[in-house]
Amino acid sequence: MNETEDKYTMAQAVAEAKRCLNCKVPQCKKGCPISNDIPDWIHELSMGNLGNAMAIIHAKSSLPAVCGRVCAHERQCEGNCVLGRKGKHIDIGRLERFVADFDSEMRLTQERIPAKTRGRVAIIGSGPAGLTIAGVLARKGFAVEIFEMEPEPGGVLMFGIPEYRLPKQVVREEIRKIEELGVVFHLGVCIGPDLTVDQLFEQGFDAVFMGTGAGKPKTLDIPGSKLRGVRQAIWFLRRVSLYNAGLISRDEVRVNPGDKVFVVGCGNTAMDAARTALRMGAAEVTVIYHRTIERMTALRAEYDDAVSEGVRFRWESAITRILNTDGVLDQVVISHNGTEETVPADKVIMAVGSQPAARIVSTSKGIEVDEKGYVLTREEPYGMTTRKGVFAGGDVTNRPATVVHAMQDAQKVAEGIERYVDAVRLLGNL
Ligand code: SF4
Repeated sequence: MNETEDKYTMAQAVAEAKRCLNCKVPQCKKGCPISNDIPDWIHELSMGNLGNAMAIIHAKSSLPAVCGRVCAHERQCEGNCVLGRKGKHIDIGRLERFVADFDSEMRLTQERIPAKTRGRVAIIGSGPAGLTIAGVLARKGFAVEIFEMEPEPGGVLMFGIPEYRLPKQVVREEIRKIEELGVVFHLGVCIGPDLTVDQLFEQGFDAVFMGTGAGKPKTLDIPGSKLRGVRQAIWFLRRVSLYNAGLISRDEVRVNPGDKVFVVGCGNTAMDAARTALRMGAAEVTVIYHRTIERMTALRAEYDDAVSEGVRFRWESAITRILNTDGVLDQVVISHNGTEETVPADKVIMAVGSQPAARIVSTSKGIEVDEKGYVLTREEPYGMTTRKGVFAGGDVTNRPATVVHAMQDAQKVAEGIERYVDAVRLLGNL
């Protein structure tokens, strides 16, 4: 599955950067959740100073090659660029991607890392929140160790977002740069069953961060929803990633060439699942959404790409029953405007949201969650849970919704951890 968006050449990138007005009050920066200093690095790029551009970006982001690809630019930086009012906004996402990829290819970045003297922090989960905290704290002199249950780090970046939107090699490069900051990765370790939070503290960590995401999918309780042909989108996407990495066989992906597939839900995960099902050879993919197009949560650009690739959409519709013959899914009943229609189907993929799994909170005392299972945190120090020294951020707390919002939240939590660990080390146990 090749990446869908074309790369800039150096000449194209510099020409695009030269269009930037370097506004005194840059609206693009205001639109960026992590306040990336966009005009500053675009200016460096316009003069060909790629190393300086990268250093400016790194001051705010540990994952620029990722953000340059999967951020909601249309709603954030690019949507706010003044040039967009009368003509074409600066292609900020593509430029960020260009700078980060050039940096990876040429190995430009040689960061000077401070000695790790300020304390030890354990991070559970290596998705965008965990990687961001690791990058921020390692740059500030903390010894950081990441515990990841999968065989490879990256979380949703590696096993959720498909290859055509975010090549895995790009994620690996970003992780390599974080490793070069001295961050240690422990892979295949599931905190909860394998190692508890108490044991992490016994090992001498000063603080623990839970960035475990929301990996437990929600489902629709309709007749037939337990049939084998019904799959969760995040499981389907994970299997395709594992298959692409050569770790499982084609059979285990479950969507077969020629299948008629229905995807329930209309967020970005639904778009990813629908487009991925087509790439896995499905003959027909139809997204079923109970609201109108105006209320879909998917980005418009993702929707447009899905349409151009052949995904069909049925608005204000719902699957009310999933039927089978001898246990094999073969039809779905779709309701629309009070009428019902029965149509042939081979697979149904659910993309109706997810919530946190309870592995950690059920094996550690004192970490409280709300009624939906999201971890409760406080404002002072930012991100600390109801258990002292344990912090949480990203999807597990029900705050952010996208990669960059998880990063924005994680930067604030990193400051909370920094203040907490410094205080504990100065004053003893608080
Ligand atoms: Fe450049 Fe647009 Fe940002 Fe102004 S708003 S600094 S033109 S990218």
